[in-house]
Amino acid sequence: MRTYFIELSYLLASILFILGLKGMSHPETAKRGMHLAEFGMLMAIIGTLMHHEIITFTWIITGLVIGSLVGLAMGLWVPMTAMPQRTALSHAFGAFAAALVGISEFYKDGGHLDRITMGALGFEVMLGALTTTGSLLAFAKLQGLVRGTPVTYKGQNVFNMVLLTVTIGIFLYLIVMPGSMPLFFTMVGLAFIFGLLLVMPIGSADMPVVMSLLNSYAGLASAATGFVLNNKVLIIAGTLDGFSGFILSILMCRAMNRSMTNVLFGAFGSASPSAAIGGAQEGSMREVSLEDVATQLAYANKVVFVPGYGLATAQAQHAVRELADILEKRGVTVKYGIHPVAGRMPGHMNVLLAEANVPYSSLYELEQINPEFPTTDVAVVVGANDVVNPDARENPSSPIAGMPILDVDRSKSVIVLKRGQGKGFSGLENPLFFKPVTGMLYGDAKDTLTRLVQAVQHA
Ligand code: NAP
Repeated sequence: MRTYFIELSYLLASILFILGLKGMSHPETAKRGMHLAEFGMLMAIIGTLMHHEIITFTWIITGLVIGSLVGLAMGLWVPMTAMPQRTALSHAFGAFAAALVGISEFYKDGGHLDRITMGALGFEVMLGALTTTGSLLAFAKLQGLVRGTPVTYKGQNVFNMVLLTVTIGIFLYLIVMPGSMPLFFTMVGLAFIFGLLLVMPIGSADMPVVMSLLNSYAGLASAATGFVLNNKVLIIAGTLDGFSGFILSILMCRAMNRSMTNVLFGAFGSASPSAAIGGAQEGSMREVSLEDVATQLAYANKVVFVPGYGLATAQAQHAVRELADILEKRGVTVKYGIHPVAGRMPGHMNVLLAEANVPYSSLYELEQINPEFPTTDVAVVVGANDVVNPDARENPSSPIAGMPILDVDRSKSVIVLKRGQGKGFSGLENPLFFKPVTGMLYGDAKDTLTRLVQAVQHA
C-alpha cells in the first residue's frame, strides 16, 4: 500500500513538473506553471517522506525547517534585480546535495557497487561537485564579492583540459575497480577545483549563459542520483532540468550570436580598454527636456517602448504601463519591443511587464518589431543599452558584432531614459547615444516616466 502511494505521488509529481514547464514557456501561463511545479515538488517530498528506509525523522525535519527558512527568506527579501545570483546559489545548494548523496552512497557501499551504479554515482558526484563550486563562484561574481572580469592566464585551456582528463580518468578507473576510497575522494576534490577553474575565465556578461549551463549540470547530477537511488521522480525531474537548462543556454547564445565554445573559452568581457570605450565617438550626446519629450510623445502616431535592465533596477514597469495607457487614450499606437536577452535573465522583461498587466498582445519580439522602427515616430529606450547598440550591426571589430539588436536608431526619433553615462553589462560604449536622432533624458527611469505621465496629460 505504502509503495503504491509513493509511486502514485511520484507519478503525479512528474506530470505536474512537465505541465509546469509547459506553462512556463509562455508569459501568460508562467505563474500557473510555477504553481503547478511547486505542487509537484510538494507531492515528491510527501512521497519521499513515506519511504520505508527512513528510520528516524530527526535530521529530515531539521533539514526541512532550515531549508524552508532559507527559501522563505530568499523569496521574501531577495530583490528582482538579484535574481541571477539567487538562482546561482540555488544551483549550488542543489548540486551540493546531489554530490553529498553520491558521496554517502559510495561510503556506504564502496567496493560492492556494480559498474552501472558506480558509473551513475561517479557522474553524479563529478557533476555535483563542479556545479557546486562553479555556481558559488558565479554567485560571487554576480554579487560583486569578487571581480566580474574574466581571469585568464597563459595555457589556461590546456591546464583545464588536463585536469578534466585526469578527473575523468579516475572516474573510468573507479567504474572498473570501485573499491579505492582515496581515489574516489581525489576525483571529488578535482571536480570541486574544476568547477572554479571553469567559471574563472568567464566574465559577468556571460554569467547567465553559464548559470543556465550549470543548471543543466545540476539537473543531470540529480538524474544520476535518481539512477543510484532507483528513484524515478529524481530521474524525470533531473532530466527535465538538465535538458531545459541546456536548451536555454543554446537559445541565449543564439540571441547573442555567440557559440557555446566562445562563451566558455572566449573570456568575453576582458575587452581591451579601447574596445570598452568604443573608440572615438562622432558627435556628442544631446540632452532633451522632459517637456520636449512629452510633446513628442503626445503628438506621435506610433511609439515603441524598448525596456532593458534599467527598467528592472528602477522597477519602472508600472510607470511605463501608465504612460502607455495615457498615450493610447490619446490615440497613439503603443508597442513594446522585447529583446530575448534584455535584462539579466531570459524572459526578464516579459515577467516584469506581465506583473504590470501590460497586455501580452502589445509585446513584440525582435524579428516582429524591427521592421516597424522606420515607421515609428518615437522609440523610447527605458534603461536598455547593449540590446540597442548599433555597433553590433555596423562594427565588425566590436566584441558584440553580429548580436541581433533592436534597430531603434531607424526610428524617426529615439529617446533614451537612463541615469547618466553608465555602460551596459558588456561595458561597451554605445554609438546610439551620439546619433543626431537620439535625445537623452537623464534620471531614474521610474521617476522620469512618472513625471512624463504628468507632462503628457498637460501637453
Ligand atoms: P544593459 O546593457 O545592461 O544596460 C542597462 C542600462 O540601464 C545601463 O546603461 C544603465 O545606465 C541603465 N540603468 C540602470 N539603472 C537604471 C535606472 N534606475 N533608471 C534608468 N536607467 C538605468 O541592459 P540591456 O540593454 O537590457 O542588455 C542586457 C545585457 O545583459 C546584454 O549585454 C546581454 O547580452 C546580457 N545578458 C543577458 C542575459 C539574459 O538572459 N537577459 C543573458 C546573458 C547576457 P545608467 O547607469 O547610466 O543609468
